[in-house]
Amino acid sequence: MTDCIFCKIVKGEIPSKFIYEDEKVVAFNDLNPQAPVHFLVIPKNHYESLNDIDTKEAFADIFSAIPKITAKLGIKEYRTVVNTGASAGQTVFHIHVHVMAGRKFTWPAG
Ligand code: AMP
Ligand code: ZN
Repeated sequence: MTDCIFCKIVKGEIPSKFIYEDEKVVAFNDLNPQAPVHFLVIPKNHYESLNDIDTKEAFADIFSAIPKITAKLGIKEYRTVVNTGASAGQTVFHIHVHVMAGRKFTWPAG
């Protein structure tokens, strides 16, 4: 999708340092971190949100990358967040999983 900032990151049109890349997904640090560790895992293909993911493979590609990345970083405990829709806090409409660690998180979330 031409207008999507995360598609531009995938294509290298917006410079970003990938902390992980495979055939299907990339991960990079969040610009505005909410924890000492805060990175985003995104599929290379454009899906607007979780509602638009249409194959089990796409879910698996995204979520199976996460423990590989955290293991590489030596992280055992972390929070994952997927905001779906503006009222849920989604601001970038290319699905992404937030992975945060390095501080205590509270629950329930606000
Ligand atoms: P969300 O509000 O769930 O849609 O999350 C979007 C996230 O993308 C926010 O945490 C932003 O800080 C982050 N973000 C936006 N632009 C960039 C960028 N160019 N590089 C890294 N993270 C970004
Ligand atoms: Zn996109």
